[in-house]
Amino acid sequence: MSKTLIIKDIDDYKRKLDIAYQKWQKNNFSEKWIENLKNYYVPSTDLWNFVKLLRARKKLPEEKYKKLEEKIFKDFEEIEKILSDVLKVFRAEEEAFKKAGIKEGKVTYTCPLCGGTAVAVRYKYGGRYHGLGSHCPNCGFSHT
Ligand SMILES: [Zn+2]
Repeated sequence: MSKTLIIKDIDDYKRKLDIAYQKWQKNNFSEKWIENLKNYYVPSTDLWNFVKLLRARKKLPEEKYKKLEEKIFKDFEEIEKILSDVLKVFRAEEEAFKKAGIKEGKVTYTCPLCGGTAVAVRYKYGGRYHGLGSHCPNCGFSHT
């Protein structure tokens, strides 16, 4: 039974890193402890970076560590933003199709990211819905 390492935001990230680091310290920075941590969670990029940061915190000088931390936090935030943007667009498209009363075809709706007029395309092919051509001409967001 594995758990997924869930990090909500940067504050949560920092808090979890602090807690894990203190625990690791109490375990005399044992390699086994890190291995157990890794095996406890489902493999993910977040977990991989989390372990990387723990190791770096022990090994690197403060200044170098801060730089790595900054970079990893920035990547984390970017991915979070992309995921939430995609969710927002999917929700808005769903609404637009509902409003139009169709399941397939083409509808326009207000882009939740920029407020421009976006186009949602949906067609069934091979038993699945696809959205190739869905895009917002204003902000450039698109998906398939
Ligand atoms: Zn847009």
